[in-house]
Order: sequence, then structure tokens, then C-alpha cells
Amino acid sequence: MVQRWLAGVLTGHMARLVLKFGGTSVADIKRIRVVAAHVKREVDAGNEVAVVVSAMAGTTNQLVDWCKEAAPLHDAREYDAVVSAGEQITSGLLAITLSDMGVPARSWLGWQIPIRTTGVHGAARIEAIETDAMEQAFAEGRVAVVAGFQGIGENNRIATLGRGGSDTSAVALAAALNADRCDIYTDVDGVYTTDPRMTPRARKLGKITYEEMLEMASQGAKVLQTRSVGMAMTHQVRVLVRSSFDDPDAPELVAATNGNSDLPGTLVCDEEEIVEQELVTGIAYSRDEAKITLVKVADKPGVSAAIFGPLADAGMNVDMIVQNVSEDGSMTDLTFTVSHAELDKARAVIEAAKDEIGYQHLIADGDVSKISVIGVGMRSHTGVAQKMFRALADRNINIHVISTSEIKVSVLIDAEYTELAVRALHTAYGLDGEAA
Ligand code: ADP
Ligand code: ASP
Ligand code: MG
Repeated sequence: MVQRWLAGVLTGHMARLVLKFGGTSVADIKRIRVVAAHVKREVDAGNEVAVVVSAMAGTTNQLVDWCKEAAPLHDAREYDAVVSAGEQITSGLLAITLSDMGVPARSWLGWQIPIRTTGVHGAARIEAIETDAMEQAFAEGRVAVVAGFQGIGENNRIATLGRGGSDTSAVALAAALNADRCDIYTDVDGVYTTDPRMTPRARKLGKITYEEMLEMASQGAKVLQTRSVGMAMTHQVRVLVRSSFDDPDAPELVAATNGNSDLPGTLVCDEEEIVEQELVTGIAYSRDEAKITLVKVADKPGVSAAIFGPLADAGMNVDMIVQNVSEDGSMTDLTFTVSHAELDKARAVIEAAKDEIGYQHLIADGDVSKISVIGVGMRSHTGVAQKMFRALADRNINIHVISTSEIKVSVLIDAEYTELAVRALHTAYGLDGEAA
């Protein structure tokens, strides 16, 4: 402890950090060793370090599948008991590996800290984090390795935070501990102008605003869980997205860790910190979309309430909505989107309310995806949407639904054109870099 403190004083660089490692970063013992070396580099630089880990890549999917296989309809409390298990394994394994490297470490499950959540199993929100145990770990010079994705909800039951929730665990912990930075280590080396799996011309961004990252994430860029970005924005947590696949002991990384050169990755930060703001920062896509059209709905007051009320009561999120203008003022068509996974449920809810709503028939289409262009520059510039429509029209891609916000334009298209659309828009907005 004294040694570490001294190291911090000598380098003038003691910081408090939360480091989060995702599923591919802890996929096996070899990868966990690399993770431990990244942690050790930060500890050696004199920093106070807490770590959040995900489950090994594929584990959570396997656990979810087992729940479904056991019973398609199951109690969400038991789902959480099962799917939270992956993070227990990796937190213990990383603590073992760190100790073996001479870095004192201890694993922590959500209930042990505790991280208190709401009782909404499968999608719980963090309400409070007690920091005493973490503060004590820092004081003892011990790395706390926290199981991500989980907390403790009503009746002392384990609750999970929704898929990708370890990001939120990390940012929440960073906020509670007043950390200087939250590093999200993943399998890409930063946030790109679009998913690098979609085009080799995607470019890495040095910085991105909280607002843009929030839109990117909520429109499908899964590099950060949406809720983690909202939380970072509210609590002003500096989030750095970076790669766990870099050599942990590379001299340039050691230099950056010690504050002697710029850090790698993408910093998510306030708009004021970004000098050159592009008009469009990024393009996101989501295949998790489905469209429902109600044909010949009465064009009269109360119809929307009759449709969307039951969906809301069933806890379903409706995203885009369009209502056609009726020809004679009596009948109209109404289209809306829900997540693909909820298509059957939404359909059942609407069909159950058919008499109340009064429509002729329902058309469901699960073969659609949503493409969004995002950028804070849109606030002060016009023509962004027009450029999008032109680029898609030039490729003969039909737009089913459009929605906009202050810094985003989204369109719903046939799923088969997803890649083509993303690439066309990436080029149209001048985002293309050199092909990787
Ligand atoms: P982890 O397991 O570390 O949490 P995820 O798979 O959840 O990692 O997120 C990382 C992935 O996010 C990348 O492999 C990449 O394909 C995807 N991704 C989507 N959009 C973007 C983007 N704009 N920039 C970077 N990565 C993106
Ligand atoms: N293991 C969880 C999931 O796969 C949480 C996470 O990785 O962030 O969703
Ligand atoms: Mg993730």
C-alpha cells in the first residue's frame, strides 16, 4: 500500500479507475491473463483500481437458452438466478489470476457489495451502491473484481440489468466511487463511425459526445449498453472505450498509463471537449425490429389510445409510429414498430383488443431493420435527412417509416438492404476512411 502510494506520488499520477472487461476479453484463461496484465499495469502506475467483468463470451446466451429449454415461460426471478452465474465465474477467475501475478485481489458479487436494484427481474435498474467495501479494498491496496450485470433486488433476490448490463455496472460503480475514469475494454479499439463489422471503411473516433453515444447505443450500436451512457451523462463519468487485445506491456501503453502520452481508444465526453464537430458522427443499425400495420382503422379520437394503451400496459416499447392521412376522413392505416423479439406478444395484445380498436386486418413484418444517422451538428444544419433519402433512393432502397429527433434521423427498410444502406450512407456523409 505504502509502496503503491509512493509510486503514485512519484509519478504524480494516482487516479481512481474502474476497468470493465467484456465477454470476448475474458473468453478463456489465456484472455483472462491478458486482462490481469492490463489491470496490473494500472496498479503498477499507482492507481486505485476496481474491475468489473462480464461472463465468458457465449456463456450468458447458453444460460438463457437453458432457461427457455427448461420452460418457455419461466419465473423471471429464477431466470436471474441462472443468467447471473456467468459473472460469478469470471470474477473469481480474474481474482485468482491477479493474486497469482502478485496483485492482491478479491472477487465481489452484486449482493456482497451490495449493488441495490429495482425488482424488475431481467431488466433491473441500479438504485444505490454501498461503497464501504470498495473504499476499504482501495485502502488495503486490493483490487476489487466485481461481477457485472447483477445486483440485489426485492426480497434479497439476485436481479440482472438487461443484456450488455456489465457496462452499466461499471459506469454506476465509477459514479458511486467518484472515479476519475471508467475504461470499457472490449474487442474493438474504440467507437467507430459505424460498426466496423459492417464496413472496412469505418473510422475510429477520438471523442464522441454523451448525447451522440446515447443515440448510437439506443439505435443499435451495442458497443455500450444504452443505460450505461445515460448514467455516464447524468453523473459526468468520463468513459473511455478501448481494446483489451492490445499488448498490455507495450511501451506506448505503459507511457500512456503513466500520463506521458495520449490514451488510446475513444473518450465519451461533453460537447465542449470536442474541437472539430462533424455534421454526422456515426451511423447505427438495428436488426431487432418488427413492423405492425393496422389496415383500415377508424380515423377518430381515441383510436391511438386504444392501440398503444394495451401495449404499454403489457410493458412493451413502441418505437416508430406513422399514421396515414385518410382519403375520406373515415378510415386510415397505422404502422408502428416494436422489437423483433416482442412481435408475437405485440400481435397477441392487439388482436385481443381488436373489438375496442376496430381495424380490418393486421399485417406483421419481422423482416425489417432500422438505420439511423446521428450527429449533434444536425441541430444547426439542414439537409441531413434529405441526403439520407437521396442516398437510399439512388440504391433503390424503399423507406417504410421515418422518425427524427434533434440529433438523429432513422428510417425503417427491408432487412436485406441493411449492409448496403449503412455503407451507402457512410460514404454519402463523407465518413469513409481507408479500408482496414
Ligand atoms: P463486450 O463483450 O466487450 O461488451 P460487445 O460485443 O457488447 O462487447 O460490443 C463490442 C462490439 O460492438 C464490437 O465487436 C462491434 O462489432 C460492435 N459495434 C457496434 N457498433 C459499433 C461502433 N459504432 N463502434 C465500435 N463497435 C461497434
Ligand atoms: N454477460 C451479460 C450479457 O451477455 C452482461 C454483459 O456482458 O455485459 O448480456
Ligand atoms: Mg457489451
